[in-house]
Amino acid sequence: MKSYLKQYIDGAWVDSDGGKRHEVIDPSTEQPVSEITLGSTADVDKAVAAAKKAFKTYSQTSVADRVALLERIIEEYKARIPDLAAATSEEMGAPIGFANMAQAPAGLGYFIGTLAALKEFSFSEQVGKNRVVHEPVGVVGMITPWNWPLNQICAKVAPALAAGNTMVLKPSEEAPGCAVILAEILDKAGVPAGVFNLVNGDGPGVGAALSSHKDVDMVSFTGSTRAGIAVAQAAAATVKRVHQELGGKAPNLVIEGADLATVLPPTVQGVLANSGQSCIAPTRMLVHKSQVADATAVVKGIMEATQVDAASVMGAHIGPVVNKAQYEKIQGLIQSAIDEGATLVTGGTGRPDGRNAGFFVKPTLLADVTPEMRIYREETFGPVATITSYDDADQAVEMANDTDYGLSATISGDPAEASKIAPKLRAGMVTINAWSGGGGTPFGGYKQSGNGREGGKYGLADFMELKAIVGEPA
Ligand code: NAD
Repeated sequence: MKSYLKQYIDGAWVDSDGGKRHEVIDPSTEQPVSEITLGSTADVDKAVAAAKKAFKTYSQTSVADRVALLERIIEEYKARIPDLAAATSEEMGAPIGFANMAQAPAGLGYFIGTLAALKEFSFSEQVGKNRVVHEPVGVVGMITPWNWPLNQICAKVAPALAAGNTMVLKPSEEAPGCAVILAEILDKAGVPAGVFNLVNGDGPGVGAALSSHKDVDMVSFTGSTRAGIAVAQAAAATVKRVHQELGGKAPNLVIEGADLATVLPPTVQGVLANSGQSCIAPTRMLVHKSQVADATAVVKGIMEATQVDAASVMGAHIGPVVNKAQYEKIQGLIQSAIDEGATLVTGGTGRPDGRNAGFFVKPTLLADVTPEMRIYREETFGPVATITSYDDADQAVEMANDTDYGLSATISGDPAEASKIAPKLRAGMVTINAWSGGGGTPFGGYKQSGNGREGGKYGLADFMELKAIVGEPA
């Protein structure tokens, strides 16, 4: 078992002050794979004090210094990709090939993208006789999920460092190993003591303490809408900036007349990749009534061709979902759809044949799903697609927008037609004949999917304050 019991505070690995040991479970085997300490309020206080002290000097560093720092981090990160991938794979169940090709590089992508944005960022602009400058916010508390652990951590750490902030990260207690390795990378790259601090822990403990801490100037949260609301409530009393990247229920609007065999494989892929555990997974398929039978056949074929296997096995299969609670939630949603009258086309409840351990879910397709059903509204976070029919183009747009979420929306079909539909969709990202991508563009949600953006120059700006300077000499 890998042991990560210490916290990284003020540039050193230190014992927790009163924390509790916690075992992380490998979802492929249901056996413990690593151990961390769930930190205490005292750990948070020490980390925030270190960050506050370091802010005095780090916030005054030059852009050139920070460019050089990000360049060193990128080199160290590249050298540790196999370690980052292994930790991610074991703890949250991404197959090792996928962890090496997608999970670990996704975090690197944020450092590379942020470096490019930093080099071009305009920190100062003239507005008439006055000047407006971008300055770092201060101490940033960061709380992140397990599903794309490095992607979500680096989407915050990279721009926060680039902007001149200092920070305390609390990664998910389900996938902490990659955050520990990232701390080693940052240490080796020469991030000054106190600029980056890592306190492992759970949400009600370390997460809540960071959210409400009076010396934390901004809390940047990625996770469920439920926890995001709790973070905002805890943060309200200290009027800190709250940045939220929350859940989603992305539609896949299939345009009438689309060439299904061509456009569905790349979009339905988003329901299967990472075992469906992506906030932008386009699970809610909307199909014109004339094409429901054909679309059902195409998606059934994709689902049935998908292999499910352990995360440690090399190959193009999908792995388990992250834990027992997630497994049971998905089972409950599949069963609720069946009970409410949906048609189970393939997959269903229970583990795939031949598996009696591990949180493995059958790739599942449900047809005849209606907007009243729970599965149409609630985030599934598993390899489960639903098909709902529409009568005309206006109704399709209405249905796509008929959700409390607004993170992403996918359109499958003629790209020219899709780009006419895109402005009508209430979501932070619209993908056409794809389900992801968009490096350098802003990432974030409308409605209950969040506040603020990550990525490129937009993410960098979100980790900064604006100051007006009036009366400077001409
Ligand atoms: P989660 O909300 O359970 O946990 C996320 C983080 O919040 C964890 O670190 C957890 O310890 C912490 N937390 C939980 N309760 C808290 C509280 N009361 N106060 C402070 N912190 C608390 O989410 P999860 O299960 O880890 O991740 C899955 C969710 O994340 C999905 O809803 C998914 O859509 C969302 N997500 C969103 C994005 C995005 O960019 N919008 C990206 C990835 C995942």
